[in-house]
Amino acid sequence: MIFAKSAKDLDKMRAVGELIAEVREALCAMVEPGISTLELNNAADKMIRDAGAIPTFIGYHGFPFAICASVNSEIVHGFSKPDPLKEGDIVSLDMAATYQGFVGDTAATVPVGNISEELTKLIRVTEECLAHGIEAARVNNRIGDIGWAVQQHAEKFGYGIVRDYTGHGIGRNMHEAPQIPNYGRPGTKEKIRAGYCFAIEPMLNLGTADTRTLSDKWTVVTADGMASAHAEHTLAVTPDGPEILTLTKEQKARKAASAT
Ligand code: MG
Repeated sequence: MIFAKSAKDLDKMRAVGELIAEVREALCAMVEPGISTLELNNAADKMIRDAGAIPTFIGYHGFPFAICASVNSEIVHGFSKPDPLKEGDIVSLDMAATYQGFVGDTAATVPVGNISEELTKLIRVTEECLAHGIEAARVNNRIGDIGWAVQQHAEKFGYGIVRDYTGHGIGRNMHEAPQIPNYGRPGTKEKIRAGYCFAIEPMLNLGTADTRTLSDKWTVVTADGMASAHAEHTLAVTPDGPEILTLTKEQKARKAASAT
């Protein structure tokens, strides 16, 4: 069943959303050639705990890190490693925090130094797909409308849309109903109601959509070895439209200013 959040719950979702967004932005700003994903992981772990929250990923079904750090052909659930990131790499940083009993989940793919035009475009279109998906998360729309919004944009560019992993409902638990695939048909699946909170997270591949999992049993990579990008926000469905919860204070202020 899908839980609609109360006004009180939504305030807590806002608090944890902003908290993890601040961590995401701080972490993204640290990415440069020479830094390792393990250093990024340790920084995120500290920032989340210093803010009085818990890194939700650690121990989740035994996952050993605070963030998922997925480099180049890694799609999601990558392990943090001591190896330095190299100029031209891209890295997806996915993280979640639990605070006052609620979870915020967000991800961004970041260039390491200068990257190719091909990868720049992949990251940009992944973010655009996320924005399209969020726009479709409206009262009386259906979950299939979100998937369709992501899919129709990604397909314009010929990217492989990962089907093996999906977005999800979120609240007191990181993964709640419903599953939110990044493909779908308009007007299908569950009806969207005010108070629902979703994590929408398109994963786009330069090549085919096919995935495989490494022997660490977590890291998901593209089957063809080509690069993959990932972007994620947690949002609340309000009567006035989708409210992105995983924005920093500054991003919210900028958004409010541009809306007036
Ligand atoms: Mg997620």
